[in-house]
Amino acid sequence: MTVSGMHPSLTAPLSAAADTASQPRPASWSPSSWRSYPAKQQPEWPDAQLLRRVSDTLSMQPPLVLPDEIADLRQALAQVAAGEGFLLQAGDCAERFSSCTEEGVRSKLSMILQVALLLTYGSGLPVVKVGRIAGQFGKPRSRPTEVVGGVELPAFRGDIVNDPEFTAEARRPDADRLLRAYYHSLAALNVLRALTRGGCADLGQAHAWNQEFVRRSPAGRRYENAADDITWALRFMSACGVDTRLQAELHRIQLYTSHEALLLPYEQALIRYDESRGAWFDTSAHMLWVGERTRQLDGAHVELLSGIDNPIGVKVGPSTTPDQLRALCERLDPERTAGRLTLISRLGAGRADKVLAPLMRAVRNAGHTPVWACDPMHGNTFISKSGYKTRRLADIVTEIAEFFSVHNEEGTHPGGIHLELTGDDVTECLGGDLEEILDDHLGTRYETACDPRLNTAQSIELGFLVAEFLRE
Ligand code: PEP
Ligand code: MN
Repeated sequence: MTVSGMHPSLTAPLSAAADTASQPRPASWSPSSWRSYPAKQQPEWPDAQLLRRVSDTLSMQPPLVLPDEIADLRQALAQVAAGEGFLLQAGDCAERFSSCTEEGVRSKLSMILQVALLLTYGSGLPVVKVGRIAGQFGKPRSRPTEVVGGVELPAFRGDIVNDPEFTAEARRPDADRLLRAYYHSLAALNVLRALTRGGCADLGQAHAWNQEFVRRSPAGRRYENAADDITWALRFMSACGVDTRLQAELHRIQLYTSHEALLLPYEQALIRYDESRGAWFDTSAHMLWVGERTRQLDGAHVELLSGIDNPIGVKVGPSTTPDQLRALCERLDPERTAGRLTLISRLGAGRADKVLAPLMRAVRNAGHTPVWACDPMHGNTFISKSGYKTRRLADIVTEIAEFFSVHNEEGTHPGGIHLELTGDDVTECLGGDLEEILDDHLGTRYETACDPRLNTAQSIELGFLVAEFLRE
């Protein structure tokens, strides 16, 4: 089977949920048309034959996610765009192959569910949950090489490309890793699906998501109180005789997957045509986003994303002009379909006031209704005195506050947040009201493979704060 072939599981007749219009594509688009455009952030693969072999093998694998699920997410995001929901997109900056274990997936899922619960509980809005999970293995880099002690080697570009160890052998891009990324995504998804089906994601389990080391902290105790309220509300509904089908619905939680569509041969190899919908889907994840460094209007990444029907995220940094953004939206969402685009602003604290409103107006005046989400992480990264790449929780909160305030002024819906967080007790971001992390603490448990993530207590604290913003 070739990339344009169709996996048998995609031949099912159109389901009832499949009412999203398919993405119009210029006649010149195909899963490989990106190859005629300049592609940034691609490693120099030393073995072209191996890359071809791996791509062929990948194109014969089953899809990781199915068009029905992708269409469901598009619908859920259309609701968010209409102000009837909130998007929580969260997870690792860079997943490691070694973290695709039951324990690794369970702890990330629990963390995302905890923050989602606080947002739902605090705001009364349904929360659409999208993980940076089961495929977030590729990293764009500011510099293609890294110099340590006078030795220059290729930069670490994520487990999908090379290994972080600082040796020439480890840093050599290895196309076989594309295949390993597929199988690790598959393994992570398998655990995710088992956990969400098996009742772990049931709202009645809200207490179980809180890990022992967090439970003892002030943030954890505050979370326990919220979980108590929810347990009571569920009991109340059941005592009132709320119909069991509705209850089952309340207990079911869907976590969608997402990653940056960075390694183009990998994404191309997982694009499949769904005849029943007459549309192409990138079956590597439910949602894909294009990063700040690869979102050029005439670049290969935007070309690839323009032809697939998945919901697409676009990172929007401080140098974006209204004209650039309008042109990008036109290219990726020519039909102006709600649910297609999520614009993820990552401006840095203190910038939203000036930059965000003109961008929002430009997009709205052009007739698009994207979900606007705030990534308060990537505009607030700096190197601390002790030499660690870090972020201050205070800056993260400030950028979110500015995001909410601009939306309130403009009368638009602040649609979501995009976070880098972990279910582990790490020391990567500074601050925290309740258990403050100082520069001197960063070295204690600095475990990230790329950018600094919020730890569990910081994530819970942020969950409470965002819920308050949503309620105001
Ligand atoms: C990221 O999300 O990890 C990332 C690199 O973001 P950006 O493209 O916004 O810099
Ligand atoms: Mn990151």
